[in-house]
Amino acid sequence: KAKARGKNAFQFYASDMNVRAMARLELEFALHRVLEREELALYYQPKIDLASGRCCGAEALLRWFSPDLGSVSPAAFIPLAEETGLIIPIGEWVLRTACTQASHWLAQGVLEGRVAVNLSGRQFASGNIVAMVRRILDETGLPAGFLELEITESTAMDVDSDVLGQLSSLRALGIALSIDDFGTGYSSLAYLKKLPVSVLKVDQSFIKDLHHDRDDAAIAAAIISMARSLELDIVAEGVELEAHRQFLLQHGCTMAQGYLFSRPLPAQEMGRWLAGDKAACIV
Ligand code: C2E
Ligand code: MG
Ligand code: MG
Ligand code: MG
Repeated sequence: KAKARGKNAFQFYASDMNVRAMARLELEFALHRVLEREELALYYQPKIDLASGRCCGAEALLRWFSPDLGSVSPAAFIPLAEETGLIIPIGEWVLRTACTQASHWLAQGVLEGRVAVNLSGRQFASGNIVAMVRRILDETGLPAGFLELEITESTAMDVDSDVLGQLSSLRALGIALSIDDFGTGYSSLAYLKKLPVSVLKVDQSFIKDLHHDRDDAAIAAAIISMARSLELDIVAEGVELEAHRQFLLQHGCTMAQGYLFSRPLPAQEMGRWLAGDKAACIV
């Protein structure tokens, strides 16, 4: 009897199965194969010095182009990579690729400032991030001073995995550290002062509407002035409008990233962009 019902039971199950769970399984299945299938790429977004308008660095941003799923946003797959632990090999690939690229740009004489790589909290919990970073700098020949690592506030606040100790070791290698998406977490100023970070990146949610939302404008201005008094460099994220640029410049923000200047670019285009920026400066 069960056998007779088998087919119907399956159809019932399949049609009722949570569509999101299916999508997640499909995503996870594909994610396990991204490295061997070479489906990942790094894009680079220029960081701009607001006073001069010149490039002062770049952030590496991960892209996944899946033949089956199309282009998958990092917001969709990074959390899954973190849950499954795949962020460990993927994160290592990201760092190696970014350092190799930065090393090429340096050799070509076009690199301006540092290349920044995003790290996830899981990579600190794995316990060997310092050794991994040191090994990759060795392998790629990139001097540590050209690398910046970005962590979010929640990663910085996770005292369990001795993040503070690991950050200090990374800093001792000569790597710059920045707090990403600043303002969205709960880091206390007292704790922030203890961290060996040199850059705060103001989250784009405060930038987006600051030209017409007084609260956002007040928060952005407060973060900038706080960063300045703590003697931290400050980068505004998600700068899309001339009005944003004006506001930031007036309030003492020194650097910015956003579509106003450039979208994240494939490595080759970023190389051309860097060369063009350099040429414009010499003229
Ligand atoms: P994030 O590090 O805060 O990166 C900034 C995000 O804002 C990027 O989204 C970038 O493309 C986007 N963006 C830049 N300028 C503008 C703008 O003017 N307007 C708007 N609306 N958006 C702008 P993306 O590339 O989708 O990355 C999303 C997040 O995924 C990143 O946020 C970062 O947290 C994470 N992520 C990206 N690559 C990596 C990686 O290699 N490793 C890890 N662990 N996380 C990564
Ligand atoms: Mg970032
Ligand atoms: Mg951010
Ligand atoms: Mg973010």
